[in-house]
Amino acid sequence: METAGTFSPDSFRLDDRVALITGAAYGIGMAIATAFAAAGARIAFNVRDAEQLRAAVDTYAQLGIEAHGYLADVTEESEIAELVKTIDHELGSIDILVNNAGIIKREPMLEMSAADFREVVDIDLSGPFIVSKAVLPDMIKKGRGKIINICSMMSELGRETVAGYAAAKGGLKMLTRNICSEFGAHNIQCNGIGPGYIATPQTAALREVQPDGAPHPFDQFIRAKTPAGRWGTPEDLVGTAVFLASPASDFVNGQIIYVDGGILAYL
Ligand code: NDP
Repeated sequence: METAGTFSPDSFRLDDRVALITGAAYGIGMAIATAFAAAGARIAFNVRDAEQLRAAVDTYAQLGIEAHGYLADVTEESEIAELVKTIDHELGSIDILVNNAGIIKREPMLEMSAADFREVVDIDLSGPFIVSKAVLPDMIKKGRGKIINICSMMSELGRETVAGYAAAKGGLKMLTRNICSEFGAHNIQCNGIGPGYIATPQTAALREVQPDGAPHPFDQFIRAKTPAGRWGTPEDLVGTAVFLASPASDFVNGQIIYVDGGILAYL
């Protein structure tokens, strides 16, 4: 018979684990990378813009974090294959993948071009498929792995102006469940985090003060509708991310954890 393990705070450590966080040049990805480093992981990240890469490497250095940054677009299979090979060579094979890179395009559906819709789905849904597919073979060989998909409240809800984003993030929830089902027997856990409204560059336009000095109506809406009464910060997400990357979550698989100050329960 199985015996219950003894709880230890070490179950939340990530010592010597190699973590790839996509798009971690700032915002949520950088906060997660910083927390993973504090928990003992070796950090790799990729972005698609050389200028952004240089700035991010500097920021990590100022934070005292040795983060290995690479240029690679999550939608380009050949660049991702090369990235995974390079990380394997320089840091060791990837134990933890966070599919964080993403974009949003806010347009009413009838004004949204098919090209814009496809671009969002390509980055936010096909990207996680491509990167996950590239890291899974080594995880299978090793007999363990953690994949964390950064989903959204839009994995559950629709709203005017986010047709592509909601379609992609809803799909990402199901990709999460599929990876869990297909690879759980290899001791690979794939879970998602659904952030609420988080103050990052992606949402900056929704918080802009109006020309008359009034708060943005969406800012007021979020403060009114979120039981916590405020926007989230990237740091609000990191406890859940460390948990899902650590041995403490080894029997958690295929789940989406919403970290949203309670707004999804209230809307
Ligand atoms: P940011 O826009 O601040 O950061 C996203 C990062 O991903 C940027 O560095 C961006 O680079 C990069 N990226 C975009 N496309 C690619 C690509 N094709 N290949 C490589 N890197 C790419 O976003 P957040 O930190 O706000 O969001 C991170 C994740 O969390 C996203 O998936 C987002 O959808 C999700 N999320 C965010 C919420 C929020 O309120 N902020 C709420 C719910 C979910 P570039 O500048 O080149 O585009």
